[in-house]
Amino acid sequence: AKGDGRGIHRFYSDDMLAGAKSRKQLEDDLRTAVSDGAFHLAYQPVVSTKTARIVGYEALIRWTHPTRGNVSPADFIPIAEESGLIEGIGEWVLRTACLEAARWPGDIRVAVNVSPIQFANPALPALVTSALAHSGIAPGRLELEITEGVFLDETQSSDQMFKALKGIGVRLALDDFGTGYSSLGYLRNAPFDKIKIDQSFVKGAAQSGNRNAAIIKAIVTLADTLGMETTAEGVEIQDEIDLIRDLGCSHIQGYVYGRPAPADEVLVQLGGQAGI
Ligand code: C2E
Ligand code: CA
Ligand code: CA
Ligand code: CA
Repeated sequence: AKGDGRGIHRFYSDDMLAGAKSRKQLEDDLRTAVSDGAFHLAYQPVVSTKTARIVGYEALIRWTHPTRGNVSPADFIPIAEESGLIEGIGEWVLRTACLEAARWPGDIRVAVNVSPIQFANPALPALVTSALAHSGIAPGRLELEITEGVFLDETQSSDQMFKALKGIGVRLALDDFGTGYSSLGYLRNAPFDKIKIDQSFVKGAAQSGNRNAAIIKAIVTLADTLGMETTAEGVEIQDEIDLIRDLGCSHIQGYVYGRPAPADEVLVQLGGQAGI
């Protein structure tokens, strides 16, 4: 039994060491990924429930690691945030998304995820202004998606950041709504244009007796009252489209309308839509 215990202990410490090593290695690889051209953006359509047309795309970062292949942003964004690399990566995302959106029709928006770390940096408004100017896209076409994580620091500076960004004319969306702790307080003062209803509420919502539909309905009512749009995320099947539309959500995003796809594919999708 003693031997087993030691074995188990050694197993865990070796495992943790391997984890720390691979994490450090990932961090090193992330450090050069922008200059290596290892990132690209994938774009997922956002569809209006009123018109059933694509009104915008969310830009989602993709990393093709030289040996590991595709690494999920869910795995490397936290590492980028903890190591400070998110600033450079986030700048690349913002500039690239604006440049690629400049090739789309002028009424199609682009949404970009902004880390709470970026949001806490007073230089963010200048970066946004610069990305808009270099790409030439209208500020109203750019939507910044932020999570409740931005409120965890001082509310004072987040107020100023909201003001500065709204002053530029970009749109603000509250991402992953409902997954944090006290979301309602944030909605009172923050100037969001849109609430993104987390996909965990969409999952199963179309099944009878599921309580998610009631929660979505409540969020939509709240958003309507506050003059905000709503996007339901993670919509995968036609039954969910029907339900979400009936519940009054203004927008839908999910595999049912398209998986995140490379920029070239977006041009094909939009070309097809224009022809309709
Ligand atoms: P998110 O912002 O909530 O993005 C939505 C995620 O849901 C994406 O995962 C998307 O591919 C996935 N998704 C979309 N439709 C469906 C669906 O119908 N079913 C299911 N099961 N999933 C769907 P992805 O691309 O792996 O991104 C994961 C997270 O990584 C994002 O969650 C976001 O928090 C973060 N992320 C991605 N790109 C960036 C970025 O450029 N900057 C920052 N800071 N974070 C990013
Ligand atoms: Ca998002
Ligand atoms: Ca989300
Ligand atoms: Ca999420």
